[in-house]
This record gives sequence, structure tokens and C-alpha cells, in this order.
Amino acid sequence: MTPTGSPAGTEQVRRQNTGLVLRALRAEGPATRTELARRTGLAKATVGTIVGELAIVRAVTEDDSVSPAPGRGRPGKPVTLTGESILGLGLEVNVDYVAAVALDLAGRVKVVETRPVATAGRPPSTRQLVELATDVRSSLVADGHTVVRATVAVPGLVAHDNRTVSWAPNLGWVSRELAAELEAAFDGDCPTAIDNDANCAALAEASHGAATDVRDSLYLTGTIGIGAGIVQHGQLLRGGAGFAGEVGHMPIGDPAAVCGCGRLGCWEASVGLRAMLAAVGMEEDATPLQTAVSVAERAATDEVVRAALEVLGLDLGRGLATLAAVLDPAAIVLGGYFVPLGEYIVPAAQAVLAERIPSAAIHLPEIRLSTLGIHAAALGAAEHALADVFSGAVSL
Ligand SMILES: [Zn+2]
Repeated sequence: MTPTGSPAGTEQVRRQNTGLVLRALRAEGPATRTELARRTGLAKATVGTIVGELAIVRAVTEDDSVSPAPGRGRPGKPVTLTGESILGLGLEVNVDYVAAVALDLAGRVKVVETRPVATAGRPPSTRQLVELATDVRSSLVADGHTVVRATVAVPGLVAHDNRTVSWAPNLGWVSRELAAELEAAFDGDCPTAIDNDANCAALAEASHGAATDVRDSLYLTGTIGIGAGIVQHGQLLRGGAGFAGEVGHMPIGDPAAVCGCGRLGCWEASVGLRAMLAAVGMEEDATPLQTAVSVAERAATDEVVRAALEVLGLDLGRGLATLAAVLDPAAIVLGGYFVPLGEYIVPAAQAVLAERIPSAAIHLPEIRLSTLGIHAAALGAAEHALADVFSGAVSL
């Protein structure tokens, strides 16, 4: 890596320009070399060289089959991002499951796999994650694919180096060198990063899910804990130490509610999964999602449960109004347990948001439900794994 402040070398410039071409193809679809030069601001000769190199590694194809448009002179052949054999591997470790998603360069999902983890109340080890990761990668490599990078989504705080889990209370992990563990399992052939699960899910919603039409969005996880992933101008907002989005412990909940962190009045002590269950008087099921489905079934016939969920929606809306005032998202996406309960929670939350917006001149963010289900975090992790290719940091 070039030290900060020193001039970019030829190789670095070449990679950056390659990343520019790849991003232009991913964002706006197939284009001729001339059109790519216009999109990227690069000279046509430079685009030609890059496209030639990318075609050799089968990252792009130039289509000969497209017939020329009449009356336009010699047409260019459209360059299409294919990259079917160049993959990013996204992984997720959670309290009760591990998941893997592999994405190709064009953003197509190649593999999705989830395995339940039975821990009998003990903190999960990394064994099941490592087994899933190595199984999936081995079979992809055996099929002729290249896994360029892997990223693991973790429900907890991840250090700024994107390699160390600093604190994952629901997994019982403190200061765990998870990236190094996986890289060793991959025999040193696949650089691996770690990221927070809400960040990964936010990235997935922005690239594949409920927020693809906006550049600024906020994603909120709904499990026992509440966390946010913030996307601004299409990029994750991370903050100084990488902990931006830890919104669950903002002191905006019921001042008398005791939080898992030991404090009073945290937001997640009012709107987290356990707070919701206490409000509706029901027990936790096997997973947050199953729990929410059971509560939704009850709500369909029980007015008291519906009323309790509406109150929760109001609490949710108050917190979202605070976040919206700070971040100005175009859309807010709710994930996790909120999804099955959306029809009972979202109208109240949206109403609070409308009531709290200081001026009609301010855009009211729309509250949406995640469309990606349980694989959102692993899918976003796979996008994260490909980010180094699109930035030009990885040479194909
Ligand atoms: Zn707390």
C-alpha cells in the first residue's frame, strides 16, 4: 500500500481507473467503450485497455451479437459486467444460526446457505461459522470460481480495523480476532474482514432490498438489541472509531425501563424484542422472527395485543424522529422482528414521524419493511467483500 500523501504510482492509478470502469458498469449497466469514457471521464484509449484486461479475466464481455443501430455509423459493442466466476463471500454469525451468501461481480446471488446453531444456552463458538465458510468456499473453488474476499457480519461492535470483534454481548465474545481465524481456515487464500450486522444489512437494503431507489437511508435491526446502519450518499457512515449507529442505548426510552446494559431508559429497553414481548404478555420463541410471527398471529385476533404494538410503534416513531432530524434519510428500513409486525407498528411510527417533523418543508422519510429476510446481513457482507474490487484495491 502506498503511504498516505505520497504520489500514486502507475499501478495504483491503473487499479483506480479499473475500479471506476467497474463501478460505472455496475451502477448504470452495459455501455459501449465510448459511453464508458463519457461516464468515467477517462480517455477512450484508457477505457479500451482496461476493458481488454477485464475481458481476459472474464470480468466483462463485449457483445458481438447486438446489431448496429441504423444510421449511426460504426457502432460500439456494448461492454457488460459479467464476472460470474469472481465472487465475494458474505457470512453471518448470530446467536442461533450461521449463514453464507456468495455474490458475483454483477450482483447476482450464486449461493445462499443457512445452518442452525444449537448452543444449549452457551455462547456460540466459531466452529460452525468456520465449517460453513470453508465448505461453501471449497465448493465454489472446485466449480472454478475465485472468491476474492470474505466479510463476516457480527451482531456487535467491530473495531475500526474491520478485523476484530470488540464486543458482541449476545454471542458472549469480547476482543476476538475473528478475521485472522477465518483467514487461517482459508489457508491464507482469502483476505477476510468483519463488520457489524446492521451495517451489512443496511448495505444489502441499499443495493438489493427496500432502499435501492434512494442514496440516503437508515436501517434499523429488530432483535433483542436495536442497532442502525446508516447509508449516506451510497456509502456506510462509520464514525470516528467505527461505532456509528449504536442507537439502542440512546436515552430516549421509558425512563423506568431497565436495559440489558444495566442502565435505565435506553431505547431498546422500550422497543427491543423482549420489551415487545413484555408488552404483549408473550414468551420468546426459537428465533426473533418466529417469535414475531407468533405475535402477529395473536395480534390478528387480539385487540389488547394490537393496542400494545401500537404503543410500541409510537415509541419507535419517537426514536426514529430523533434519528431523522440528525441524519435526514430519504427512507428508513426496519428489519428483524419488526417485519412480521409491520402492519401493527409502522402506521403509529410513521404518524409520530409526521407529527415531529419541524417543518412541512422537510422531507418526511418513508418507513419501509426489509424485503431481504434472514439473509440481509450475509448479503450485505458479500457486497462488502466485493467493495475492494469496485474501489480498485484488488487487482483481478
Ligand atoms: Zn442500554
